[in-house]
Amino acid sequence: MGKFNNEALVKEIKGRLSIINLVESYTSVKKTGKGYVGLCPFHDDSNPSMHVDEEKGLFHCFSCGAGGDIFGFYMRYNNLSFPEAFSELAKKADVNIERQPESVPRKSQNSVLYKINAVASKYYRKILIDSSKGKLGRDYIQMRNISAETSQEFSLGFAPEGWDSLVKFLTKNKVPLSIAEKVGLIVKRNNTDGYYDRFRNRLIFPIQNIEGKVIGFGGRKIKEEDQPKYINSPESDIYKKRKSFYGIDKSKDHIRREGRAVLVEGYTDFLSLYSFGIKNTVATLGTSLTREHVSILRRYTENVVVIFDSDESGKKAAMRSLDVLLEEGLLPHVAPLPPGKDPDSYITEMGKEKFDELIENSTSWVEFFIDISIDQYRKGKLTLNTMVKDIIELLEKVKDPVETSLRIKRTAEMLGIQENEIYSLIKRGRGRSKTGAAKPQRTYPSHEKLLLTLVLKFPDLGEQLTHENWEDLISTAEIKSILQEIIVQGTSDPSSLLLRFDDKVAHEMISEALLSSPDIFNGQSASKIIQGCLVKLKLSKLDEKLKFLRIEIDEAIKGKDAQLEKKLLIEYRDLTKQKQREEGKAS
Ligand SMILES: [Zn+2]
Repeated sequence: MGKFNNEALVKEIKGRLSIINLVESYTSVKKTGKGYVGLCPFHDDSNPSMHVDEEKGLFHCFSCGAGGDIFGFYMRYNNLSFPEAFSELAKKADVNIERQPESVPRKSQNSVLYKINAVASKYYRKILIDSSKGKLGRDYIQMRNISAETSQEFSLGFAPEGWDSLVKFLTKNKVPLSIAEKVGLIVKRNNTDGYYDRFRNRLIFPIQNIEGKVIGFGGRKIKEEDQPKYINSPESDIYKKRKSFYGIDKSKDHIRREGRAVLVEGYTDFLSLYSFGIKNTVATLGTSLTREHVSILRRYTENVVVIFDSDESGKKAAMRSLDVLLEEGLLPHVAPLPPGKDPDSYITEMGKEKFDELIENSTSWVEFFIDISIDQYRKGKLTLNTMVKDIIELLEKVKDPVETSLRIKRTAEMLGIQENEIYSLIKRGRGRSKTGAAKPQRTYPSHEKLLLTLVLKFPDLGEQLTHENWEDLISTAEIKSILQEIIVQGTSDPSSLLLRFDDKVAHEMISEALLSSPDIFNGQSASKIIQGCLVKLKLSKLDEKLKFLRIEIDEAIKGKDAQLEKKLLIEYRDLTKQKQREEGKAS
């Protein structure tokens, strides 16, 4: 963000979007006096501690310290980088950022990578549909009940047999091979020069980002003897597994419309459901669900149904995903499949209606888990202790207090024990783990903080600092650099100031300073307080120096170095006098 020079566009976006409206779409806020307060979405907040100020365009949580402007909120909430938040908020604000494409330099670098993937995707597609080499792929697609429309919509392709079909094609089309290597389409040969194709004799699934750009590929084996079953592109500048869902560019609108997302594990399950008309689906790619995934999903819905494969590994993956969803504050549902079935085989055999029913009848994961645990206990497969421990571990992850108390009540009823017993066990658990609680805030010397607040509110007064050796007085690096920025560059408004810092801490300090106290100071009293702060800072600096001197003097005495001792004592006396002068000013 520091070198991001598109201040005009940023201001335009801020001008068109209301920070209150944005924040309100994630947490509810109430008007109080001049501003708004609400429950902070960045920590487990029970007492509204997040303040939002429309006029200044800032938010700040006085409990966990999260703060900044509309971009900061959006980035933090959705786990985005500044350029990503910038382009998404620009869309919301209907601001055209393309008119200055150089504003996002990273983009142009990446655009070459997207382009190469697009070229390769077209090549694989052509082989699948046009060439005799693609017949194996076509047969496989038919066998898996993926419709022709779905195959086309998702640009399925085929990588032919042989080591260098793609290498040859790219060479012929003058595509730089080094860049194709960067996105993992081809691999450098070990002992000789040149490259070979990563995907050979495989059905190809282009992986697209939310905007529909190809960021990577998945390849499924066709021949039984080939290993492994699936190959994925390695991660690259444009492909991060932790953040990528298969099919989300096509399914996101369906998810939004239906108010629900169905989570499955891979391409074939996804495509099979999609072919049958269950389009509000997403699939993770060779990884279980991550926090980043959840923040993407949350943009479209809070209702997630996890399809629970009945086999051991499927079960485990589903449970990991469910944990992440809970920890991110959602209340996921599960739809368990009958033994031996996966989503693809189930829908193929039973049809769409049955599958819809399965989703409709999905149960809250927490309820499901508790029922199963109690059932296992009753059957003698779990001891009482293990069962209660398992349930408590799960309940500790639930962020919604209403849900927790409901479940505790029900569990207690089913087990015939007191609710209080469960509560006390949970509390003991919470003491151990840190989840949920607000992180301890960093603390800063109060006079430095006050100085920052005053100079931010009255930037003209920053000049007062220049009469002193102020930079030596400030010990907090972030406060120093914000003050330097104001004094050297001047600032007309906080939003342009925020733009010049790309670290979270600086943003939090600025939002805190600007939203912290009501505007009780007028310029004149502020000026006096600034002088007072400077004196206090000088005094504490002097105290620190005196303390060190005393240690040095002690050592000089121990070392019997009379000359040094004398020199240090003179210094000590001078500093003490200086301190007395400053104290006179302070009183
Ligand atoms: Zn907070």
